Amino acid sequence: MAERNRNMAIACEVCGTADNVIMFYRRKNLCNRCKQFSRRITKATTPIVCNCTGECSPSGTCREGRLAKCAEIGLNIFDEKLEKLFKNLMDWNERRLFNFTNSQPTEDLSLEEIMNRGTIEFTERSPSDHNLTSHQWASLQNITTIEFMKGFHFVKFLNPEETTAFIKKTYFKTTIFFMAMASFQSNRDSMIFPGNKDVFPEESVDIQQRHDKLFKRIRCLLISKFIEFRVTKEEFLLLSVLISCDPNIIMEPNSDDGSTNPNLTKKGMNLIRTYYNFHQVVLMDYCRKNYKLNYWPNRLQKLLSLILVLIDTMGDLGKTHSLFQFVESGVKLNKLVDDFF
Ligand SMILES: [Zn+2]
Ligand SMILES: [Zn+2]
Repeated sequence: MAERNRNMAIACEVCGTADNVIMFYRRKNLCNRCKQFSRRITKATTPIVCNCTGECSPSGTCREGRLAKCAEIGLNIFDEKLEKLFKNLMDWNERRLFNFTNSQPTEDLSLEEIMNRGTIEFTERSPSDHNLTSHQWASLQNITTIEFMKGFHFVKFLNPEETTAFIKKTYFKTTIFFMAMASFQSNRDSMIFPGNKDVFPEESVDIQQRHDKLFKRIRCLLISKFIEFRVTKEEFLLLSVLISCDPNIIMEPNSDDGSTNPNLTKKGMNLIRTYYNFHQVVLMDYCRKNYKLNYWPNRLQKLLSLILVLIDTMGDLGKTHSLFQFVESGVKLNKLVDDFF
C-alpha cells in the first residue's frame, strides 16, 4: 500500500530525488514524477526515444532514460487490475483463435520474413474448410501464436531486432502449448488439428510407426496432465505468458556461438523479466483466491510443473526433428518449425 513519507533521507529509486518520495509504491520508493511516469508509460502513443545530448539519465526529461531505469530496478510498469488483465489476455486469445479458425495459411515464411512484414494480414477462409495439410495447420498455428506474443505490453518498448530475438526463443514452445490446450478444450486426449488432421506431416507415417512411443508421448503427455489437473482458461493464459516470456530461456546461450541473445538490450531483457515476474505473482494470487487455503500452494506447483512437461515434450519433438532430418525420410518441415530447432 502506498504511504506518503516526507523523510528527506529516502531517495527515489528511479531518478534519485528525495522530494515527494512515496514509499513502497509498487514495492519501490518513487518520487511523484516517477510514479506518474510508471503509471502512464505503457499507454504512450509516441515512440520512446532517447533525446539526451550527453549521457542518458533517468532524472531529466528523457523518457527512454527513465524507462530504462524503471526496467533496471524491476519496477512493475505493467500493473493493471486483475479483471482488465484477464480481459486483455482473453481478447488476445480470442483474436488468435479467430485467425487460426478463419484464415488461409500464408506462404511458407521464415520468422525473419514474418517479422519484417510487420502486422500479419490474415486472408479469410471459410471456418468449415478443414481441408488443410498438417503443414498448413502448423504454419497457421505458429503465425497466430507469434501475433499473440507481439501483443504483450513490453513489446512496444523493444526495437524490431529485440522483438525478433525475443519471439525466436519461445514461439514454437508456446505454439505447442496452445495446440495441446486446443485439443484438451475440445475434449481430445491427444494433440490433433481441426478436421482430425494429424499434427505430424502426412509423409512421416513410416517414421511414426517405427517410433510409436515417442510420437505418442508428444501427442498425449501434456494433455494427460491438463486432464488430470483440470486446468482453467485463466490458468492456461497465465501459463502461456510465463512460457513465452521465460527470461531464462530467452537469455539462454545460442547453440551456434554460445553468446547470450545478442540482440536483446539490457532494458529489453529487464522489461521481459518484470513482465514475467508480474504474471507469476498474478498466477499465485489466482491460485490463492480460487483454491482452499491448504491446497493453493500445491495447485500452483502443479501448474508450474506443466512447464516442465512442456520442456520434455519439446525435447521429444527435437528427437523427431532429428529423425526427419535424414534425407531418406522425405519429410520436409515448414520453415517456422524447422527454424526453431
Ligand atoms: Zn523519481
Ligand atoms: Zn536519454
